Amino acid sequence: MGLSRPRTALRVLQEVRAALPPAARVYLDRVLREGAPRPPSTPGPPDLFIGPLPRDPTDPPRPFTVSRLRELQPVRFQTAPKRHLYTLVLHTLHVLTLASRPDTKWRDLLPPLEGEEPRWASLYSTLVPRPAGDISWRLLHGAVSTGVYLARFTPIPDTCPFCGVRETLAHVYLECARLQPLFRLLTNLLLRFWLHFSPHLLIYALPVRGPTKSRDLLVNLLLALAKAAIYKTRVRRLADGVSCDCGAYFRSSVRSRLRAEFLWAASTDSLDAFEEWWALSGVLCSVSPSGSLCLTL
Ligand SMILES: [Zn+2]
Repeated sequence: MGLSRPRTALRVLQEVRAALPPAARVYLDRVLREGAPRPPSTPGPPDLFIGPLPRDPTDPPRPFTVSRLRELQPVRFQTAPKRHLYTLVLHTLHVLTLASRPDTKWRDLLPPLEGEEPRWASLYSTLVPRPAGDISWRLLHGAVSTGVYLARFTPIPDTCPFCGVRETLAHVYLECARLQPLFRLLTNLLLRFWLHFSPHLLIYALPVRGPTKSRDLLVNLLLALAKAAIYKTRVRRLADGVSCDCGAYFRSSVRSRLRAEFLWAASTDSLDAFEEWWALSGVLCSVSPSGSLCLTL
């Protein structure tokens, strides 16, 4: 206050206090005695949980649908991840459509054997290139073009461009005679991994299990590249009319990948890791004592 003597300040304060109305003086005395009053504490917003409604007990569960509503657990709304909320809203809005759609067309075309099921998570991994994973994913959904499907909307014939048989989904990826060399190659390769190649394995993929993780990832990569080879050679045949052996295409894509991985490992001094992942059991390749790549595919 710029006052040089404490007595002056005390006198000013006494005059101010005397000028206050009685109620204000009582309030001031209480503040000086008890400290500044705190605002009344207000509770935060109540916890809100959001989730699907419990299922009607009389409504039997429908297995193998694309609806994920039954799997979604209630979560705290304030902290729920955006992705979870998006899935919940999407599957709630379209519950009737999604619940009536099977998760994959192949359940009718190629009924899973006992203990078998589509391995959606195995379609993508760090080894599988994204475009090849997408083709496998679309194929499992039955969302790839076929002559029978295209003939409904376009003037092109509904027959296979390779053999002239009616081109259904099963024909393109399992039954066409042109696939036999590729399937023989896959049979030989998988036998060396102690696995039996089958149409089920090609479409549904191999589950990745801890003790055999390296082998399972590698086999799923081979299956993905095989499906991509079938898909791309068919597209090329339709576009250019050229005949391309899908077995040779598959072999070439695997060899290219092995060479690229080897060059990268050699340049980063990580050949041990390369051998661990890519030269497993020497089925696809091996590394010589002098450090060069020997392709066995
Ligand atoms: Zn055919």
